[in-house]
Amino acid sequence: MMQFESDGKVYNPLGGGSYVYQDSLIQYLHSQLRKKVVKISIGAQPNSSPHFGTLEVFCLAFSLANMLKEYDNDLKISVLFEMVDTAPAIAKMVNNNKYQISLRDSGEMDKYIDQYYEILGQLSELSGISYEVRGQSDFNKHYSIPDIVKKIIGNREVLAPILEPKKQILRIRAACPICGLTDKQGIENTFVGNKMICLCPEHGKFEVDICQESYRLEYNTPLRNLIRGLVYLTDNEDTNTDYQWLRITGADYAGFYQEQLLYKTTDLLGYSVSKLPMILYAPLVTDWSGAKLSKSLYVKEGAYKYLPSFMINYDNLRKEKGTTGLARVYAEVHSWLEEPYKLFRNYSIYYFMEVLK
Ligand SMILES: [Zn+2]
Repeated sequence: MMQFESDGKVYNPLGGGSYVYQDSLIQYLHSQLRKKVVKISIGAQPNSSPHFGTLEVFCLAFSLANMLKEYDNDLKISVLFEMVDTAPAIAKMVNNNKYQISLRDSGEMDKYIDQYYEILGQLSELSGISYEVRGQSDFNKHYSIPDIVKKIIGNREVLAPILEPKKQILRIRAACPICGLTDKQGIENTFVGNKMICLCPEHGKFEVDICQESYRLEYNTPLRNLIRGLVYLTDNEDTNTDYQWLRITGADYAGFYQEQLLYKTTDLLGYSVSKLPMILYAPLVTDWSGAKLSKSLYVKEGAYKYLPSFMINYDNLRKEKGTTGLARVYAEVHSWLEEPYKLFRNYSIYYFMEVLK
């Protein structure tokens, strides 16, 4: 492969978001808050040791909480980790249809969850910010879920082609109560009144009452993104709820993705887009070609053999750098919020190799 040397200089040219928010991001975010209690939401599928991008998202959440608290000491602010424990652990084809068993039901997530708690604990210490964790069944117990889900099901002919352009199916599902098998695409589902009727290839039809058993519901990523946005919108608006939400996620979800899959669909359902939580995006960590580091390529295909292993996941970072590894990533991410023009761009692995040297 072609070898070349860089001059090691870092430029941060202004443009777009970095121009508008270059020295007033915290002030702007604070001015948009309507409540004195704020929860900053982050998410991940605990299906492997947390990869570098996940660490960065987690660091940005705690760092932002710390900065907002410093800006306004009357704020009560914490981080909430929405654990996507309904993501697939085992995939199965039955009668030409895709079925899965989730991280939660297979017990697969138990292998990695301690690492997530370790990271949350360390970031809490570094930032002075407390945290909470909830799984998908607790998320789905929110009082607004039956209403939101029924509205989405009622409008599925409009929404499904936007949320899933390929098959145009609403990707809502539930696990068989006997064996945990789940119709991944929700292809066999029918809806009657408040009931979703699903099919297990082993145990036949089963029903989920959307009002009484909303904790059983599972969604694919774009649908979950919409439902989470609408639950947060409800909390933001509800004067009986003392907190409001901010969301942090990776920059691969910024732009067209969110405009089509979240803002357009929210508007089509008749909600006010301006009441959705503000989302701040964590810069991507990219490989030599400019693509984001992929956890699944590393896990399944053995990609990135050329990288030092501490760049791959938390397990390796901790083994090779001890607790200073995560502390350095946190300090770097914190510096982006101190000078927000550094937040509206991506960073290559070579940049981070310098940070962690
Ligand atoms: Zn079954």
